[in-house]
Amino acid sequence: MHKKLFIPGPVDVKEDVLQKMATAMIGHRTKDASKLQRDISEKMMKLFYTENQVLLSTSSGSGLMEAAVRSCTNKRAAVFAVGAFGKRWYDMAIANNVPADLFEVEWGTPTLPEQVEEVLKTGKYDVVTVTHNETSTGIMNPVGEIGEVVKKYPEVIFCVDTVSSAAGAKIEVDKWGIDVCITSTQKALALPPGLAICTISQKAYEAAKKVENRGYYLDLVKLYDYIQKKDHQYPSTPSLSHMFALDYQLDKILAEGLDNRFKRHEEMANYVREWANKHFEVLPEEKYASNTLTNIKNTKDISVKELNERLAMRGYTISNGYGKLKDKTFRIAHMGETTLPEIKELLSNIEDILGL
Ligand SMILES: *Cc1c(COP(=O)(O)O)cnc(C)c1O
Repeated sequence: MHKKLFIPGPVDVKEDVLQKMATAMIGHRTKDASKLQRDISEKMMKLFYTENQVLLSTSSGSGLMEAAVRSCTNKRAAVFAVGAFGKRWYDMAIANNVPADLFEVEWGTPTLPEQVEEVLKTGKYDVVTVTHNETSTGIMNPVGEIGEVVKKYPEVIFCVDTVSSAAGAKIEVDKWGIDVCITSTQKALALPPGLAICTISQKAYEAAKKVENRGYYLDLVKLYDYIQKKDHQYPSTPSLSHMFALDYQLDKILAEGLDNRFKRHEEMANYVREWANKHFEVLPEEKYASNTLTNIKNTKDISVKELNERLAMRGYTISNGYGKLKDKTFRIAHMGETTLPEIKELLSNIEDILGL
């Protein structure tokens, strides 16, 4: 039996979208492939409220995170972490020999504009990385406000991880001044894992051109140049199957209406948070709580493993805490195509199992 996924990725994919993955193959150096990339770009630009170039990478989101920090850092990267995925960006920098410093706060608290200002004031950095939606803690950082600070430092490239929020929350790339905005398919976009997507500003491109060793497969300059000069194609063979499905899913997302989609996510988030605060406690402060997943403190000391086993028998699955929060919290995702009635159904099953 298929268990309905309430985990923060991969999420359930609609049957018609899944079917698009089975579209007959085309050559990756054909006009059709160019058109597919162009169509996806135009739709992604709407989703991200940007005029910047869209790039795809056949990798999971981590691929383009690694690409961004390696391709764009000439001087030193300031990596802000509010959980495991923020920290991953620092580990990537170090593994690639990219000079970087990690600015980590206690899990469950956000990155604040003041903190970023304090760090950028030193003049040591030309790249800032921030996680928009930290999936390990359920924090949604105030990226718009952070962007206002970064704008004061024109030499700094602003890289943002929106992997678990894009298509589930409004992200205004141009207004917020994001130079590289990264997401991937298996979270709020509701597609199978395997494709990463980013937007890249002209400024980030120019900075990257000055970086000597950008690697090969994940070189943002090479990807950008191919898109610009080779009629929207890729240096290596992309996952065309994902591209067929993404193009189709973006049509569905735009047909739902971006504001409707964001509102649906907000309504689900509000409902889960209210429920969580009634029976347990939400980890982050309300103001910074994510709209795509809720991280719930295990104040009743329940066995999340046992709860999940019993939920599985009823056809549902949720997530335990991430990393060091493993038994201390549990997470319920409300992203992608999930609806409020489905959330209500899940929560009433949890109440029933736990006798709440
Ligand atoms: C899922 C996720 C990623 C990417 O992880 P992959 O293992 O590469 O899919 C990055 N950042 C955040 C916040 C995520 O939730």
